[in-house]
Amino acid sequence: MTWLLMPEQQCGSETMIYFDYQSSRPVDSRVLKTMLPYFDKKFGNPSSLHEIGDEATLILEQSRSSVAEFINAEPEEIIFTSGATEANNLALIGYAFRNRGNHIIISEIEHISIHNIAKYLQKNGFEVTKVPVDFYGRINIDALKQRITDKTILISITYASNEVGTIQEIPEIAGLCREKEIAFHTDAVAAEPQIHIDVKNLGIDLMSLSSNDIYGPKGVGVLYIRKGIRLNPLILGGGQEFGLRSGTENIPGIVGMKIAAEIMSQEMDQEVATLKGYQQRLIKGVLENIPDSYLNGHPRARLANNVHFRFDGIEGESLLLGLKDKGISVSTGSACSSKTLEPSHTLIALGLLHEEAHGSLQLTMGRFNRAQDIDTLLNVLPDVVRKLRKLSPLYKGV
Ligand code: PMP
Repeated sequence: MTWLLMPEQQCGSETMIYFDYQSSRPVDSRVLKTMLPYFDKKFGNPSSLHEIGDEATLILEQSRSSVAEFINAEPEEIIFTSGATEANNLALIGYAFRNRGNHIIISEIEHISIHNIAKYLQKNGFEVTKVPVDFYGRINIDALKQRITDKTILISITYASNEVGTIQEIPEIAGLCREKEIAFHTDAVAAEPQIHIDVKNLGIDLMSLSSNDIYGPKGVGVLYIRKGIRLNPLILGGGQEFGLRSGTENIPGIVGMKIAAEIMSQEMDQEVATLKGYQQRLIKGVLENIPDSYLNGHPRARLANNVHFRFDGIEGESLLLGLKDKGISVSTGSACSSKTLEPSHTLIALGLLHEEAHGSLQLTMGRFNRAQDIDTLLNVLPDVVRKLRKLSPLYKGV
């Protein structure tokens, strides 16, 4: 099917400008419309043998094929989960408990779910090494090589940072894992709406995806498991999803992810080109017009929808509230931990001081941003920063 109509979709209130797509994305209205009949009219359970059960089985398998196509996998390599957190758990815990060896490598800038899974594995007898990143958020391949031992069974590195947007050298990392016969998992949640990922070509063994990050519903995700990779299930029950994830399938959500993936495949190039334009304007506009402002993350190898700044002498929180007053929604860091007072572990891993990390602002854009959103932000932000700095005893500039 061709999704020709890009909806004029209003997100939030009429006046709100939204720059926090990494925390939450609106469901595309085309996705929502396709999902709705699966709540009341086509409500079958794929395990039932009657007509609406058959209908549910059919759409479940069609959805598996669509998501497989999205990443160039085979349908039987796709396991639907309740989201990327569950996919990450299944990948790391499922693999660790099934395979010989006890050493796992992750990076310092993984999503909080990977860090907490790693902690759990450490408590359960596994050894975990965290590979550092450079000032731009990139993993050095030699540093990764040096940390591999003969006990290493799994390496998990995020495809691109959900915070600073830095894209890792995934082909090289996957190639290294292949060469050393170590399984490679990547959390591709931040990358999936921006990069055409070809798991076969890259040689990825395990990959986590989330539906909401491609404008599908929340509470749905996927773990891609390359044929031949063995995992222990974490959820036992009726044996759904090839015995790897029991529980009645969330058919409306899965249909949502199917349509979201189909639309994303077709519209990604156009969307990324538009976002790149917005990104360049924002970076240039902020760095040129606001003194003592800096870009966090990589200047080139970064997701098109991400800009991440830091400003001397002010707190990101005050900035967030100043922009909130003007109807602009932004973030100071990862939504998953933004209510804690701790600085972001990613920014600290980049080598920023606590006060620099606290002075940071994350703007993530998406399908429904318009060029005038960028104009408004560039008009408003310098003034908000100036006013906050006037009140700040920390700011040494003029
Ligand atoms: N990984 C990354 C990189 C994320 O940004 C998120 C949050 N969207 C998750 C994992 C967790 O996803 P979910 O909320 O679907 O469990």
